Amino acid sequence: MKNICLLGATGSIGMSTVDVVVKNPEKFNITSFSFNSNIDRARKLIDILHPDFVCCGSFEAVKVLNEEFPETRFSYGEAGMIEAVKMPQIDVVLTAVSGSIGLKPTIEAIQAGKDIALANKETLVMAGEFVMNAAQNHNVKILPVDSEHSAIFQCLEALHDGKELREITITASGGSFRDLSREDLKHVTVSDALNHPNWQMGPKITVDSSTMVNKGLEVIEAHHLFNIDYDNIKVLLHRESVVHSLITTVDGALLAQLGPSDMREPIQYALTYPERSELIDEKYFDLAEMGSLSFEAVDLMRFPMLALAFKVGRMGGEMPAVFNAANEVAVEAFLKGKIEYLDIEDFVLRAVKSRAQIVQINVTVNNNYNREVTLETILEVDRLTRELVQSWVDALVLFADDINHLHFDQEPEIAPEPEEEIDLEDTISGTFEQSDELNLKELMSDAPAEVTPDAFSLENLSAASAPATPIAEEVLPYDTFSFDLEAYNEINNKNGDNIIKVDF
Ligand code: NDP
Ligand code: MG
Repeated sequence: MKNICLLGATGSIGMSTVDVVVKNPEKFNITSFSFNSNIDRARKLIDILHPDFVCCGSFEAVKVLNEEFPETRFSYGEAGMIEAVKMPQIDVVLTAVSGSIGLKPTIEAIQAGKDIALANKETLVMAGEFVMNAAQNHNVKILPVDSEHSAIFQCLEALHDGKELREITITASGGSFRDLSREDLKHVTVSDALNHPNWQMGPKITVDSSTMVNKGLEVIEAHHLFNIDYDNIKVLLHRESVVHSLITTVDGALLAQLGPSDMREPIQYALTYPERSELIDEKYFDLAEMGSLSFEAVDLMRFPMLALAFKVGRMGGEMPAVFNAANEVAVEAFLKGKIEYLDIEDFVLRAVKSRAQIVQINVTVNNNYNREVTLETILEVDRLTRELVQSWVDALVLFADDINHLHFDQEPEIAPEPEEEIDLEDTISGTFEQSDELNLKELMSDAPAEVTPDAFSLENLSAASAPATPIAEEVLPYDTFSFDLEAYNEINNKNGDNIIKVDF
């Protein structure tokens, strides 16, 4: 019997995990779980699972559930999640919360010697080196739940050692807007974005799929999980989401893992590894019925966030955390109707460029500067990036009547009546002086030539590869837009780094 702590039980991965567990009562038991806001679902889960301990999103929820379930212990917040993962009887922690909130409990779980079934990719994106080193030091397994990584993990089982691996190829469905042009993207809505062609997932990851931020996060996740260089990670557009991902061995063989779009399969494999067992109510899957599968190169001009993810991944240090944090805030604002779809990319790029500005010398002198940062720095940069991007969102909302985007050449003529007081001086230093549209050409300066969609071939596989050239100086143009420089310098100073002077 495996005792599981399930972080994010009320979400999409959480519920798929519950399904696997309740269908295998002799194998698995959910000893503790966490949820955030969905108290009705949590209530049902307590009824079904009878956990010893539940971590709620708020103290109010603890008070309510405490009365209803006197036999279960409750706590809340991050401290509660940490308590949930560290319980002595827990064997494995399945991390299915969305976003960076998963990082600290995962680290605590590793330090307590618990194996990790990892769905929360943000954990490895933010602090991959730290997490993987901690896992090694505590002799803990990190078992992938993400379908692409599970596929690669399963294919790697066929190799004798890592030297036999040439490269990995992560497949991408292309998300809700894969057939729209960038022009079309100006008019898309939240409900359009949430309509994924192949997968039923939580809202954040569904939006991330459409921007290919999700694929970018997966590239960085794979880099850490499999200790593989970015040059040897490829991305391939595969609309059917049947080939979950593949590897190429040194002798040129391609090994792939195929299956239906059903997250219960990788979840169960992570929980039963190294064994396999029957997947109860397995989804019907017939290749003959499917007929054909398609593979296309990814057009990085169309999906600039994927190219940016490769760049921040190669840069290392805190840059992937900046990319991730900016995206989390921007996606949340988009889902709440505060910003438009293309603003997500705009804000992520701005945040990355702003941080790169702070570490400008490192970037320009050393293409792959890979500076070592502490976990504290990463968490602080994560916090500051969130504040920064939130301030842009607030500014956009404040001026919503006068501007559609931050891209304007002139000051608005009439200042609008703000609904609530927001002190821009406090939140943003510097001004929105110049138009700072996503400069796709710059971003794509090392993108491969476009390849027309074709059948599955090695030629296309390599053509689909993401840029292998290291970051060029001109890739990160420093504009006059900046922010909270003092706070950033303060952090750098605290960690003994160089302070960079930036001209506004
Ligand atoms: P969902 O949005 O469906 O679920 C998120 C879960 O996290 C919910 O239980 C939610 O609680 C909880 N949660 C959200 N915010 C907080 C917070 N601030 N504090 C504590 N708990 C919180 O997400 P998914 O299940 O889709 O994704 C979860 C993770 O798995 C993500 O990292 C995603 O990238 C990854 N993943 C998901 C896949 C999928 O198919 N869905 C595939 C591969 C990876 P509540 O509902 O109660 O508010
Ligand atoms: Mg995935």
